[in-house]
Amino acid sequence: MTSSEAGRFDAIVIGGGHNGLACAAALGRTGRKVLVLEAADRLGGAAGTHEFAPGFRVSSLAHILNRLHPEMVAGLDLRKHGLALSAGAIPSVALSSAGDPLVLDGAYGERLDGTIDAADRSGWSELRSLLFRQAGILKPFLSRRPPDLGAMSLGQASLLGSAALSLRRLGKEEMREFLRMVLMNVADVLDEHVGDDRLKGLVAFDATLGAHLGPRSPTSLLGLYYRLAGEVAGVTGAQALPKGGMGAVAAALARAAEAAGCKLRPSAVVGRIMVEKGRACGVTLDDGEEIRARTVVSAINPVTTFLDLVGPRHVDTGFVRRLGHIRMKGDAAKLHLALDAPPRFAGLAEEAHRGRLVIAPSVDHVEKAFNPAKYGAYSPEPVMEITLPSLGDPSLAPAGACVLSAVVQFAPYALKQGWEAGKPKFLAAIMAVLECHAPGIGRSVQHAELLTPADIEARFRMPGGHWHHGEMQVDQMLMNRPVHGADGYDTPLDGLFLAGAGSHPGGGISGAPGWNAAKRVVEVRG
Ligand SMILES: Cc1cc2nc3c(=O)[nH]c(=O)nc-3n(C[C@H](O)[C@H](O)[C@H](O)COP(=O)(O)OP(=O)(O)OC[C@H]3O[C@@H](n4cnc5c(N)ncnc54)[C@H](O)[C@@H]3O)c2cc1C
Repeated sequence: MTSSEAGRFDAIVIGGGHNGLACAAALGRTGRKVLVLEAADRLGGAAGTHEFAPGFRVSSLAHILNRLHPEMVAGLDLRKHGLALSAGAIPSVALSSAGDPLVLDGAYGERLDGTIDAADRSGWSELRSLLFRQAGILKPFLSRRPPDLGAMSLGQASLLGSAALSLRRLGKEEMREFLRMVLMNVADVLDEHVGDDRLKGLVAFDATLGAHLGPRSPTSLLGLYYRLAGEVAGVTGAQALPKGGMGAVAAALARAAEAAGCKLRPSAVVGRIMVEKGRACGVTLDDGEEIRARTVVSAINPVTTFLDLVGPRHVDTGFVRRLGHIRMKGDAAKLHLALDAPPRFAGLAEEAHRGRLVIAPSVDHVEKAFNPAKYGAYSPEPVMEITLPSLGDPSLAPAGACVLSAVVQFAPYALKQGWEAGKPKFLAAIMAVLECHAPGIGRSVQHAELLTPADIEARFRMPGGHWHHGEMQVDQMLMNRPVHGADGYDTPLDGLFLAGAGSHPGGGISGAPGWNAAKRVVEVRG
């Protein structure tokens, strides 16, 4: 069945997650006629807001912004299209198992509260500046198209040149220090500079968030660089909560896409990418409808794109093998609690409850929480990042009530005992940890929703329930993301491009893969 839409579109974007929307909006602004096909009945993918109990709304998966691509925000005029933060940058709070919490204010701990001693204060100040300088070297690589090893363009050569210059500007000692540290584990780096367990636990948690790594796993510092290369509202290292939950970010992108003339079609499941003579020439929906276009952009998972939608017979076997080796089994679960009143975390001032509260009281806690995940078991004492978004945005909960949103690790996708049996036990383990830090919270719960990686895969079409649509480890980054042969948004098929988090630079709510992919399409297709 050929659609009435046949021939009407220059480009089809598969997947209306935030990257698909960013890509579509950018392409639409070049005058192209663009169609976005989204399988779910709403746009946004993992950047959504949903009602999980009557009157309680929450960011469905991603809940904190820390890396929105500034070029995209400006280029698509997202503020004009309704992007708003519920307050300015929010602090991070490292909750302790024994004593006072530690509040880190400003951009990634620019200011620490008075509970930390002088030696750790100055050790942190030194380490923080060092990390920001080093992340700054990687930043251009983590925001633009990765260098093309085969045929480097002038722009890419100058990117490498400017990185070399930044390195030189660091001076000989710092250059050596960067080269020493870049592939280290975060625990060892922290040990060299600070002693405070709360601070070290928080930083170790951040470095391993969304990854199958513990703080003592080699290269775990890279996750921290990735975070510190991000920015919000012009402030590097800042973090913020979007007003209306993460769905509001997707809604702003959708409005930008519509304003650029794109057609957005939710409830449209793409079943196949049509290939003729080695060229992608359109898609077939699950109901048999065929829609043709000269360019097809896939903003969904790369493995799904090639193995399910294109089909292995259209690409070479080496490429299929590489795709099969991509690691993407998620470890992060999402917990939503509808509370009849705001919880009180022990020792924490009322205002600080609006921040990001991290339960990862030491590096050992994070490492021990990770260990069982290696063997298919969940953490009996999980670590987590909590927000109470309705404190800053009362539209998310009924009057007087409160929403708790938490990302909880480690919850392996392939739980040995199976998630049907494991989920209630894991929820009990999470609630036991929460109860230690916010006594009485259990009694206040009206409704709990726990999404395991298996739930995330099923509900959001994210294979493995993986944060980044593929591990962010050194062998799966830059020109090896998602794999050699499909890097830099190009693919082995003419007319087919990638644009989702599985592509460079990776996941998180940034819009960078989508924005960069649009530029690449324009470069290649004219
Ligand atoms: C538990 C968890 C917590 C997270 N928290 C944060 C956070 O706080 N901050 C942050 O920055 N990041 C966070 N992330 C990461 C972030 O959510 C993702 O990296 C990001 O949303 C990926 O965006 P995307 O547009 O590339 O893909 P997706 O959001 O996955 O969008 C892909 C879209 O394609 C659609 N689709 C799939 N198959 C088809 C098909 N066949 N036909 C049509 N449509 C299809 C899907 O329905 C989906 O809408 C979190 C991730 C997880 C799992």
